Amino acid sequence: MASSPLQDVRDRIALAARRADRSPEDITLIAVSKKRGADEIRPLLEAGHRDFGENRVAEAQEKWPALKADYPDVRLHMVGQLQSNKAEEAAAIFDVIHSLDRPSLLKALAKLDNPPSCYVQVNIGAEEQKGGLDIAELPDFLGQVRASDIPLAGLMAMPPQGLEASPFFALTAELARRHGLQGLSMGMTNDFESAVRLGATALRVGTALFGERG
Ligand SMILES: *Cc1c(COP(=O)(O)O)cnc(C)c1O
Repeated sequence: MASSPLQDVRDRIALAARRADRSPEDITLIAVSKKRGADEIRPLLEAGHRDFGENRVAEAQEKWPALKADYPDVRLHMVGQLQSNKAEEAAAIFDVIHSLDRPSLLKALAKLDNPPSCYVQVNIGAEEQKGGLDIAELPDFLGQVRASDIPLAGLMAMPPQGLEASPFFALTAELARRHGLQGLSMGMTNDFESAVRLGATALRVGTALFGERG
């Protein structure tokens, strides 16, 4: 059978997992399909892939109802910053939110009848313009999430661009361990193998699956 980007990425994940003495089944590959058309997404669905990521509520609402009608077992992941006033709309279409990063959003999600499972996003590189909670605020914030009805999936982090990602992955993993969390959403096209080595359970990969954007 001809190789595909999806198969290549799966093979690389499996290899990285084996080298780290981990099971590939413990790692979810999320195909980040933002700005990709249904024509690019359907081949992955046809190949059996089911976890997809988007970073805007409106774009997900445009693209995914038709695709979900054909593939009802799709799991959609919100990986972009989420405004509190979009929480309800997001919960209606997304199964998992990777960007819970502030009390106002927590409050908006906790009010919903069936809040989606959420990763708490940590601003792991302490970057000013980046989403994510300050590390210092994490203990208190996790307490607030745990006191709510929101299922807590784990931590999400995005290391600063242009820096070696491993130390940031290691720090995220250490924070998760310290707080008794299993889920680690980290690792993208350029660094998912080191994320696997350092304990990632959810990889968010776009370019390696869909190609460079034109
Ligand atoms: C776009 C995006 C990704 C995927 O990035 P690639 O480098 O294309 O793999 C992962 N996470 C988030 C939050 C994104 O916005």
